[in-house]
Parts: sequence; structure tokens; C-alpha cells
Amino acid sequence: MDQIVLVSEGEGRAIIVAPREGPLAYAASQLQFYIQQMSGAKLTILAKEENDKDKVEDEDKEKTHIVFRVRKGAANHDGYAIRIEDRQLVVEASEPRGCIYGAYALLEVLGCRFYGPGPLGIIIPRHKTLALPADLKILREPAFANCIPSGGSPEEQVQWGFNFIAVARTPEQEEMAKKLGVKQFRWGHIWPNLISMQYFADGRHPEKMDYGGREDWLPADEFGVRRYNPASYRPWDGGQSLCFSNREAFNWFTDNAVNWVLTECRNADYVSLWPADTRELALCRCPRCRAQYSTSGYTYPTDWYLHVHNEIRRKLNGRGWKGIFGWIAYHGSEAPPVYVKLYEGGRKMDFLYAPRPRGGGQHGPFTNEHPINIRYRQNLDGWIRYLEAQGYEGTKTVFEYYFDLVLLGNLAAGRTFLIPRHDVMQEDIRYYYQRGFDGFFDCNPPSNTWFPDPLSWWLYTRLLWDAGLDIRAAREDFFRNYYGSEAETMRKVREAVEDMMFQEPSQNIIDQLRSLEADCEESLARVRSDETLAKRIEGMRLWVHYCSLCKESEFHEKVTVDKERGKAVEYKIREWLKDNKEFLVSNRFMSEQDLAYLAGPVVERHLRLFDLL
Ligand SMILES: [Zn+2]
Repeated sequence: MDQIVLVSEGEGRAIIVAPREGPLAYAASQLQFYIQQMSGAKLTILAKEENDKDKVEDEDKEKTHIVFRVRKGAANHDGYAIRIEDRQLVVEASEPRGCIYGAYALLEVLGCRFYGPGPLGIIIPRHKTLALPADLKILREPAFANCIPSGGSPEEQVQWGFNFIAVARTPEQEEMAKKLGVKQFRWGHIWPNLISMQYFADGRHPEKMDYGGREDWLPADEFGVRRYNPASYRPWDGGQSLCFSNREAFNWFTDNAVNWVLTECRNADYVSLWPADTRELALCRCPRCRAQYSTSGYTYPTDWYLHVHNEIRRKLNGRGWKGIFGWIAYHGSEAPPVYVKLYEGGRKMDFLYAPRPRGGGQHGPFTNEHPINIRYRQNLDGWIRYLEAQGYEGTKTVFEYYFDLVLLGNLAAGRTFLIPRHDVMQEDIRYYYQRGFDGFFDCNPPSNTWFPDPLSWWLYTRLLWDAGLDIRAAREDFFRNYYGSEAETMRKVREAVEDMMFQEPSQNIIDQLRSLEADCEESLARVRSDETLAKRIEGMRLWVHYCSLCKESEFHEKVTVDKERGKAVEYKIREWLKDNKEFLVSNRFMSEQDLAYLAGPVVERHLRLFDLL
């Protein structure tokens, strides 16, 4: 026997064996669903408790059993192992959700692909007969134990290999988290809110904090005046700090944070509490606060931040909260602390590293000799020395900015979703993996964009599992499956755009970009009968057009320095996005919010650029 036949001429030849509920049941249902889509055959799912031999129907005894099971040690983290064992096809994992990843892997062996959101991003080949090689053996383990998503729905996030979802806020979301067996996270610049609002242990609605009669809790400014100190550009956000050397203020704030965790995200597996979003966190400047952590010029707030953080962790332990409690190295808390060590060696804590000023890879991989990369590598070395010196017991998570238009929208290559390049992304991810990071997150607002296709996103999700991925082979796989008969044309078009968007702007480059639209139109004419493929190619054609407009804008900004023509191009981009909104949003090339961001703030940023010329 050199093949395991699952479906023969539309007839099911296999049975799926899994428990009735939970992640393994979901894995079974996904396998059943896509096999039916592929072949028309709906395989029976046998609930595990019924799987003793005498209850199996006689005709089923001859069929291959596809068994989903959990076995501790089957694979590292939530990886999975697939193999043939006594005529059974076994999909096993140490964590239940690993079986879901295993189900998708099995479907990939059968020819399916899960590149991005369906229907365009999912490939389902049609075959009346489905078979697997008899010597099938797969062991796959993620490079990062914690893969935290930024876009998509919970089911999609799991389909793409992530293992966290945003913390559940309704019973339905809680049910979904259980069904998928995923972990839950909550994070953000929550600290200011903990200064402005009071949270209660009994979970009642939070109230505005009144500092009347407690003025000595407020931080002192450089003139010694005690006042509430919100971040200047986001005054509605709440304060940046209190006078934390004041025992009462310190106790109140840390209790408040504990109450917040226990009422707002009690079921989260991971919470990360960040200070205000500002480069210069304003600490209390009273003599007592300054004396406690007298860092050079009293410029680094990280000591105070982690001092407070430790106390919240200690109190959360006292309240029996078992999740991971993380801090962020970002803006004001970028530099490692000088005095403060982590409570219990950082046990059940997470170091979240967000090198924001790098602007998400526009300066090439983190490993190169660009001054910003050198500076942040030194900074990271400082943090790792700090952690290792105390035998750090917590985890480390990367917070990257790939395809983040908040940071990259001012660049023609950035606003067209080409930063970072795929090889840069791999170089970074490999580096972080080698530095011992346990988790990865990509902050990419607007974060539900798969334009012109899900290639970049899919490669990113693959790299989180396999930092050594063969990018060239993966790209080939993508073009072949996603663009089918037009793979070669689309590959050439995409590669030409990827190259030209990074070249110096010129009329010649703009003309060349425009001419690629004709190639897309010829492709479109050839595939009219295949609606799905036509939509994918139309996505590429639209992107080529968008890229040529963005390059034209860059041309006026840097070469002609013609304000009026530049602004006219920007208005054209805005109109063009609005004209194509229906197609782009309904086919999930981008969400409505993302499109509004491209047509709004990104265009406005460029209009301002031209005004300043
Ligand atoms: Zn103070």
C-alpha cells in the first residue's frame, strides 16, 4: 500500500475520530468541512467515547481512521505530529489546539492553502479522489511559543497559526476561546486610565478618581507644583504618574491596577500594562521621588515603572491570579532600569520589546549597520544583560511594526505595503528567535489589509513557525496556487513593482509601473470565466495602479518639487480609493476602516508634506 485513500470517486473511505467537544472536535470539523468542499464526500466523525471496536459499524472497520489526540510530549509548544500508525492516521499534539494546526497541515498535504481571509485567500482544489502518501510523517513546532495576532477573526487567527485571541468580553467569545483552545491577551496604554479612574474589588462600574484632599498624591512638576500630568497631546487619556514615593498613593495605584486586572481581564492568560504613549514620561519630581531612583538627570522612568509593576505582580499573586503580567520597553520605558530588580526573578512576567523608532524595517533588517539598528541592538543587549544577571524566569516577546502605515505611510513603498521586504522580515525574525524571544506580535495598523494579496502576511505567519523558511520556495507555492494559470504573469508583475517602488522616483519608473496594468488586463481577459481568479487578478491590477499613483506623488515631492501637481495626485489617490471601496472591502483586500485610514490620515500626511515644500 503506497497510499492512504481518504476519498475514492466521491465516496468517503475514512472516518475521523475525535472527542465531541473542544479544540479536537473543532479540528475534526474543519477537516471534515474542507474534505467535503474538495471532494463532495462528508467523512463521518466518530466521537471518541464511542470508538470501542464493537460499536464501529462493519463497513467502517475497513476504513482508515484519522485520529486526533493529545499526548504530552508529542511536539514542542503547541506544535503537532502526523504519522501513520497501524493503518490509522494519527494527528497528535501536546496542547489541544495543536490538533487544529495539524488538521490544516493535513489539508495542505491534500492541496488546500490558507493564505489569508476567505474566500479569495483560501485555496480548495477539487478532486473526486483524495489520498495521502502511506509514509506520511510530519513534525512541526512553532519557533515562538506565543504568536499574538493583530488582524482577522479568532477562527482565522487559529487557521493562520496564532495561539492568542483578544480577551473575551462576552459569554459567546469565552465559548469561542474554549472551542479553539487559545490563550487570551489584553494590553495597551492602560496606566493613564488607572490614574484617572478608580476600579473596585467588587467589580462595580469604575468611577472618575477624585484627588480632592489628596493633592499630595499628585506628581510635582519641575517647579514643585503638584498637579495632574496627562500626556500633553492626549489630555483625555489620564495622567502619566503619581507621587509614587508617597506610600498611600503607591498602595492605592497598585490596588487599583489589581482591581482592573481582576474585573476587566480576569480570564486573560497574558496582560501587559503600559504607561502613557509618550517619549518623555513625566515622573514626579519631588525630592523624595528623585532621591529614590536618582538615575542620570532623573530621565529614565523605567525604575519607577518596574518598581510599581513588581508590587502589582506581588498583589496579583496574593489574589490568586495566575496569568502572565508583562511590561513594555517602549518610548519612556525604553532604557533598562538601573536599581530595580524584578520581583521573584520575573516569574510570570513578560518583557515586551517594542523598538518603535525603528519604523518597522524601513532601515533594513535589525542586524544591519544602520545607526538606528545599532542603537537598538545595544539597547536590547542592555535589557538582555539586565534580565540574565538576575536569572530571569519570565518570557520575552517582540513587538514589531511591519506594514504599519502609522509609521510607514509617509513612504511610497510603505503606503503600498512593501515594508519590510520579505527577506528583511526573515532576517529580523531569525535574529529575535536566536536571541531567545518566546513571543511575537506585529503592530500594523491598519491591521486588516491583504492588499494586493495575502503573500506578505502569509509569509509572516509562516516565519513565526519556521524562522528558517525557504522564502523563495514559499513564494513559488503562493503564486502557483493563488494565481493559478496566471501565476507567471502575476509573479513578474509583483516582482517588478516590488523592485520599482524602492527605486528613485522618475517619469520612466512611473510609466513602467503604469504599463504593468496592461499585463494585468491581459491576464484578466484570459480568466474571465473563473470568477475567483479574476478577482485576485483585479486586486493586483488595482494595486499596480495605486502604486503608480503613490510613486507619482513621491516624484513630485522629491524631483519636480511641484506642490500643486503633487497635491492633485494625492486628491486622485483619495478619489480612487473611494471609487474602488466596494470591491476592495467586500473582497477583504482591506477593511472599511483600513481604507478610510489610507484615504484619510495617510493622504493628509502627504498633503501636509506638499504644503511644507
Ligand atoms: Zn514624588
